[in-house]
Amino acid sequence: MANRLQLEWDLRDHGWADCRIADGAAKATLFVSYCTDGLADLLSGVGGLYGATNRLERFFFDSEPMEVRWVLRREGADVAIAIYEFPDVAISLDLPDSEGHLAWTATKPLGELAHVVLATAQQVLKEHGEDGYMTKWIRYPYPVAALQDLRRLHLQHDQCELPHDMTLPLA
Ligand SMILES: [Zn+2]
Repeated sequence: MANRLQLEWDLRDHGWADCRIADGAAKATLFVSYCTDGLADLLSGVGGLYGATNRLERFFFDSEPMEVRWVLRREGADVAIAIYEFPDVAISLDLPDSEGHLAWTATKPLGELAHVVLATAQQVLKEHGEDGYMTKWIRYPYPVAALQDLRRLHLQHDQCELPHDMTLPLA
């Protein structure tokens, strides 16, 4: 599929990561700092969409000094994804989405979003291991529980026929 969602999580040194999101239509690079637990928030945010068909999940990456705000709105089987950037997280958390810069947006099936987020998170674990992750991300451990929760939800609810990395046991 030409418009398939792509996500990369590139863990760098000293509590920074680059998060690259793209599909056939548009791409964005988001900077993430360890002030918030970005990978855990992403996994939990997508997991939270499974509750009801109109769920809304919001979370943000602290990008020192920017705020990168994710708004995930479930619309039946799909999720409307909007990512906004604000220049200063110290003052932007109370601002409405409309005052941010829309850095990336797309609507994707929930199953596709969950699969891609899972695969990306597992790639990070495969590359760095839990110890290596902690060394680089410093403030938070690798989010094992959030990964297991999302994988359980994805396998239960989405008829996904793609292969899944089962290296970590199910919670
Ligand atoms: Zn899958």
